[in-house]
Amino acid sequence: MPDILELIKAKDPGEKEFHQAVTEVLETVKPVLNRNPEYRQAAILERITEPERVIMFRVPWMDDQGKIKVNRGYRIEMNSAIGPYKGGLRFHPSVNLSILKFLAFEQVFKNALTTLPMGGGKGGSDFDPKGKSDNEVMRFCQSFMSELFRHIGPNTDVPAGDIGVGAREIGYLFGMYKKLRNEFTGVLTGKSLGWGGSLIRPEATGYGNVYFAAEMLSTRNDTLEGKTCLVSGSGNVAQYTMEKIIELGGKVVILSDSSGYIYDEEGIDRNKLDYVMRLKNIKRGRIKEYVEKYPEAVYTEVDTSLDYNPLWNHNADCAFPSATQNEINEKDAQNLINNGVKLVSEGANMPSTPEAINIFLDNKILYAPGKAANAGGVFVSGLEMTQNSMRLSWTKKEVDDHLKVIKKRIHQSCLDTSAEYGAPGNYVVGANIAGFVKVVNAMLDQGLV
Ligand code: NAP
Repeated sequence: MPDILELIKAKDPGEKEFHQAVTEVLETVKPVLNRNPEYRQAAILERITEPERVIMFRVPWMDDQGKIKVNRGYRIEMNSAIGPYKGGLRFHPSVNLSILKFLAFEQVFKNALTTLPMGGGKGGSDFDPKGKSDNEVMRFCQSFMSELFRHIGPNTDVPAGDIGVGAREIGYLFGMYKKLRNEFTGVLTGKSLGWGGSLIRPEATGYGNVYFAAEMLSTRNDTLEGKTCLVSGSGNVAQYTMEKIIELGGKVVILSDSSGYIYDEEGIDRNKLDYVMRLKNIKRGRIKEYVEKYPEAVYTEVDTSLDYNPLWNHNADCAFPSATQNEINEKDAQNLINNGVKLVSEGANMPSTPEAINIFLDNKILYAPGKAANAGGVFVSGLEMTQNSMRLSWTKKEVDDHLKVIKKRIHQSCLDTSAEYGAPGNYVVGANIAGFVKVVNAMLDQGLV
């Protein structure tokens, strides 16, 4: 395998997150390649690691003071072997080609695991919505869509939200797409309920992650009841992860944002979660405000001089990283193990470094990679696309039941595949191989395109 990795690194030397995501997949699919020499003959690795299309564009917009700003917009159309490109848009100052390519690459396998006909893509911008007025966000979204619209469509590429892109941004993006195309269609998912959105879509990633964790625990005759949980982030995924943990009898003691984290030993109950949802979704405030409202909690500011994140250094049973990539390093992983954590389920994409993953695997804890654990969001996005095509809406229970069933199936498929390839209980191997085989077989069927 090193030849392909070397090739990728030589071609795009600065793309370290992309290299990290590709390395993990290539290392785990070796046994599949050994069993199927035709994959190598078809140069499948070279093809699957090269995006089908990369779009980069200028996004000029005007701030409230009349000053002109310029950001960069992207859409990576990674793989359409099993369906239209599908994956979120991220608005965050750290966004670059490497981060979006890693996200698009992971998305290909995640979408395959959902069993729905969705290819993989990802996009976004280095625009930072934090501290911007609604009007500024609207003008940015309109400018972004005035280029993106020509590359997407309900049968071509269907973006959704991700970090920095929630219901507000999806609304502005959809409005501009509709105006430019003169067409009301399911081109974005994560829409509001009144105009084509699906019930349970906002909840789906967090709920789905907790359903997956519950399935993993059930293999050891255990449940979430009474478990102490660490959840990072306080955005969409973190909020609904917490909601489901509380519902299943667990206790969450941590929440964070990019400035710091709060530790509430008594647990963040339903009322406190309602406060966090108002603080983050309506007031767009910072998590440190939590301790003003609930003085029993302690706030710790991010300290970049440390080589570990104190957030992960608390006694707990389970951890649900739900903020961003590489938020758990080797030291954090060891701290988690030392503090009694027996389950890590990834709401965020690639939140654990390769060294951290090795520590989880070596210690034989229940470890679910993002591809399997957080696939509930894109799965319900797929259901939103189906409802849009059929021009009808399913009930909350219908969608949630579908979500529960699919998370059970993904869990089983990871277990079966890991056992088939000689690594029973290794969800990384299971998720990567199950997703890979489905996509690769579709690519072979479709010839050299
Ligand atoms: P979100 O609503 O924007 O929330 C992101 C949260 O993470 C915020 O609390 C944010 O804090 C924090 N965060 C972001 N960047 C950070 C950084 N560099 N360091 C520390 N904290 C950081 O986004 P989201 O939709 O919940 O997404 C969270 C993660 O889940 C991402 O990895 C995303 O790719 C993944 N994911 C999302 C979905 C989905 O359906 N939304 C589906 C699958 C996977 P600030 O507010 O301070 O930035």
